[in-house]
Amino acid sequence: MGTVAFLGLGNMGSGMAANLVKAGHTVRGYDLNAAAISALVGQGGQAADSVESAVAGADAVVTMLPAAGHVRGAYRDILASAKAGAILMDCSTIDVQSARDVVAAAAEKGFAMVDAPVSGGVAAASGGTLTFMVGGTPEAFSAAQPYLAQMGKAVIHAGAAGAGQAAKICNNMLLAICMIGTCEAFALARKLGLDDQTFFDISSKASGQSWSMTSYCPVPTAPSNRGYEGGFASALMLKDLRLAMTAAKGAGAATPLGAEAEQLYTLFEGLGGGGKDFSAILKLLDGSWSR
Ligand code: NAD
Repeated sequence: MGTVAFLGLGNMGSGMAANLVKAGHTVRGYDLNAAAISALVGQGGQAADSVESAVAGADAVVTMLPAAGHVRGAYRDILASAKAGAILMDCSTIDVQSARDVVAAAAEKGFAMVDAPVSGGVAAASGGTLTFMVGGTPEAFSAAQPYLAQMGKAVIHAGAAGAGQAAKICNNMLLAICMIGTCEAFALARKLGLDDQTFFDISSKASGQSWSMTSYCPVPTAPSNRGYEGGFASALMLKDLRLAMTAAKGAGAATPLGAEAEQLYTLFEGLGGGGKDFSAILKLLDGSWSR
């Protein structure tokens, strides 16, 4: 086992870094938030006081940061301080072009790097059951795969640099559209006199079945049964939809339902729903939403 630098110890990164500790690595963590670094130390990791000190001498670098600006900024420092031969993995969700740019900048300095965004939320991050969608050369994928496998249940090579981000935003655009469709159907079923459980029992065994229905609506473990707290925040879904719409424009792809989903989540965020799980869009659709 080697030394891994982990930058970005937030909701997702904290659990991912802890799993690398459990796998036997020396994990050196850095975050702008000192409490996040202390939490990693409590789980057996080491504290770093800068990007440079986290990265110096590490065999691998993992970043789990909020957005593209953070990733571009962090890699300016990482590429200046990482040791030759270190494998670089960005697991943040960012736009395809930024992912390609950062991987190209790494390659110019001789580093193998992958974009490796994840599917699965905070529970999957701490449980080590994430799905990684990986973009990069076959050599970079081979070098990254053992580390990613210690944090997830599936590690899939999607193609060249940026392909992991492409897969991520296409998947999440589909998820948003499915969720809105599922919620629309439940809202209509209620107005037509069907109760939620009856409609669920029928549609989950009929052609309307989807992950949004069977995992979210209205099964007992779903956020809908705990005030839509936890889960995957509507604001994060909106971020992913915006990335998808930017990518669609750049690629000349027609995504009318993706555009509609972006509009609905923009409206929901404006009405104060950004912090609620994305399945709370049901309340916007059935008219029961209030701040
Ligand atoms: P978060 O805001 O909880 O964590 C991000 C962390 O990065 C914060 O602790 C912040 O202090 C730190 N940070 C910011 N800039 C930094 C820098 N320059 N150096 C070091 N640390 C820095 O976010 P999160 O929920 O952990 O999400 C991280 C990424 O994962 C995002 O791109 C998000 O879209 C993606 N994602 C999140 C989920 C989810 O359910 N939360 C699921 C899949 C993907």
